Amino acid sequence: MLELTEVTVRFGATTAVDDVTLAVQEGTVLAVLGPSGCGKSTLLRAVAGLEPLDAGRIAWRGQDLRGVPTHERGFALMFQDGQLFPHASVGDNIAYSLRLRGVGRAARVRRVHELLELVGLPGYAERRTPTLSGGEQQRVALARSLAADPGLLLLDEPLSALDRSLRGRLAGDLREILSSTGTTAVLVTHDHDEAFTIADRMAVMLAGRIVQEGDTAQVWRAPVTREVASFIGFETILTGSAASTVLRASPTPTTTPTASTPRRAF
Ligand code: ADP
Repeated sequence: MLELTEVTVRFGATTAVDDVTLAVQEGTVLAVLGPSGCGKSTLLRAVAGLEPLDAGRIAWRGQDLRGVPTHERGFALMFQDGQLFPHASVGDNIAYSLRLRGVGRAARVRRVHELLELVGLPGYAERRTPTLSGGEQQRVALARSLAADPGLLLLDEPLSALDRSLRGRLAGDLREILSSTGTTAVLVTHDHDEAFTIADRMAVMLAGRIVQEGDTAQVWRAPVTREVASFIGFETILTGSAASTVLRASPTPTTTPTASTPRRAF
């Protein structure tokens, strides 16, 4: 598993990540959900080895990662704009890490074919990447990240550049793909629907700190503060006797919320 213990990252006077302790079990997906500027990307970059820690420890499968360079961590990173190589075909983009590892041509072609099936783009291997739609490009970026068989997949706002309806569809597909491949992943996002759809667990981050962490359904059912409730999409927040009346009258929700679940009261 991935373990972060009291991790702090500072930029001069700004504490971007403030004393964060988190664990991600293998085979699960954790979403770090928070507004822009709360420190999500810095946290992800620290896990990837792209940002040094000012304090704390990050360990993977029991090994302290201090001093382990990014390319030796066995993690894959996927960004908002897939950052595909524009002059290479879809197949060559996906096969990039396999080629680096010296995997032979026949095995590369086979793996590219499997991955294109997995991400819902069979037959796309020869396409040039600039001819793809935004959603297709993100699917190819995902296939490229998975090609390396990463121990851990780090996703930085992977769907943010897409329009809303496409985002919803791709979020559902992403969940399916991650769970069918048993991929361990950390997703950072400012979009609560995306976090609820894709992740098993959720950590809500505000101003550099994790203010609540738990199973996604549990965070949704019982946000710990008014700030968390607002951020995860509650529109009306009741307190005092009004809240007690509503709580007494409401059945306990039993389903995981989805993008279409109305969230009105707390
Ligand atoms: P998020 O991903 O949640 O939008 P970031 O991790 O990008 O947040 O940024 C968190 C804070 O750290 C912000 O105040 C941002 O301005 C600051 N920050 C991020 N990267 C740097 C950097 N390289 N140098 C200085 N400040 C930075």
